[in-house]
Amino acid sequence: MDDGREWRNGACHCGAVRFRVRLTVGLGTARRCDCSLCRMRGAVAVTAGAGDLEILEGEEVLTLYRFNTGVAQHFFCSRCGIYTHHRRRSNPDQLGINAACLEGVSPFDFREVPVNNGRSHPSDGGSGPDVVGTLRFEPAF
Ligand SMILES: [Zn+2]
Repeated sequence: MDDGREWRNGACHCGAVRFRVRLTVGLGTARRCDCSLCRMRGAVAVTAGAGDLEILEGEEVLTLYRFNTGVAQHFFCSRCGIYTHHRRRSNPDQLGINAACLEGVSPFDFREVPVNNGRSHPSDGGSGPDVVGTLRFEPAF
């Protein structure tokens, strides 16, 4: 279905996995997260609907990682190890897309990135705020 949102191309580091995606509201959804996985992964994720991602190449090298409740599905390239996307636990109709995999996008393009409360997840009965803080990047020049 073509509703006017632009398709963006993306790929992992080695290029084995190539995809295209339509983001819900562009790059404005950029978030990081402080859950046990994301705090190691360190990626900036942007939001897409579950039906708005098409894997164009390399579906067979994508590997699925699950932990804890196993509800969230975290995909990464089995060759280069780069996280490409995940299906959210908080909303399985949504995907988080690694912003750094998108053509022409750098994680350092974002001056301020809100950090989601992944440690006290609502699905775990957590009652903390949705956002626990903001990460800022100050370019040196
Ligand atoms: Zn790869």
